[in-house]
Amino acid sequence: MSDKTARIKVAIQKSGRLTEQSLDLLQRCGLKYTKGPDQLIAFGENMPVDVLLVRDDDIPGLVRDDVCDLGIAGLNIVEEKRLHFLEQEPAEPFRIIRALDYGQCRLAFAYPDGSPLRTVADLAGRRIATSYPSIVRDYLRRQNLSATVVEFSGAVEIAPSLGRADAICDLVSTGATLVANKLREGETILESRAVILQTPVEVPPEKADWINRLLQRVEGVMQVRESKYIMMHAPKAALAKIAALLPGSEAPTVLPLDGRDDLVAVHVVCRENVFWETLESLKAAGATSLLVLPVEKMLA
Ligand code: ATP
Ligand code: ZN
Repeated sequence: MSDKTARIKVAIQKSGRLTEQSLDLLQRCGLKYTKGPDQLIAFGENMPVDVLLVRDDDIPGLVRDDVCDLGIAGLNIVEEKRLHFLEQEPAEPFRIIRALDYGQCRLAFAYPDGSPLRTVADLAGRRIATSYPSIVRDYLRRQNLSATVVEFSGAVEIAPSLGRADAICDLVSTGATLVANKLREGETILESRAVILQTPVEVPPEKADWINRLLQRVEGVMQVRESKYIMMHAPKAALAKIAALLPGSEAPTVLPLDGRDDLVAVHVVCRENVFWETLESLKAAGATSLLVLPVEKMLA
């Protein structure tokens, strides 16, 4: 098999809210690439992995059609396209293999200030503007509600003031856009974040090894972002109590301290963020010389 066919293609958003963090994730996985300012593809220099830079809406289709082996997009887009593709063909178009820790937002209904509409139950027979028609129709169907879905490709929040809809269903993160457009947030129908998609076809053996390595590194990057290495001195008598206070940790390493029979050194990796409150509880339990260090890399 030639080198060209064995290269893995990963589709990410070309320019938008997910771009910087998706490129950062790939870099943290060890990928070095060359990329021109307007280039559609960035070639991996040290791994057989190339990055396709496209509109986020195109990512699920590229993965479904096996043009790309992997893709990173928001669950909102992924779910919308998944439902749309399923209407055309009943087979699952791709596999969602990993949720990532960025791109958090929610798809929620919103009602104009002063409107009598308060909840989804009030939407029967009304018009709902959205860029997510498949998700909204699916939701309405499951709620046994009949309403008209008006598709907007952008600026959904102005639809009610234009008289085009009675309510909207759109992405929200802080809610500031809704407030600015005199809308009141209602029910969330999808909690979203960036996810990794994989093609539905079986991975050819010449690619499988690098795909697995890449996914294992993603796993490591995710764990490292939350993990901390904690070191402290602890009275032997308080060890059990201290171990119980450590968040998301495995068995700690306990080391003797020269010339001290009553004290030991405790080293532990915590797979959760360590807050001041935890350190204060550890101190109250007898720990001293507490040190919290970031973890650079991790391979389980
Ligand atoms: P493209 O040009 O690639 O089509 P876009 O305008 O559709 O870009 P962005 O606004 O860059 O997309 O958003 C990309 C993704 O970021 C969204 O699909 C969503 O998953 C996520 N996201 C996170 N927070 C928000 C938010 N407050 N509003 C919209 N999207 C958000
Ligand atoms: Zn888009």
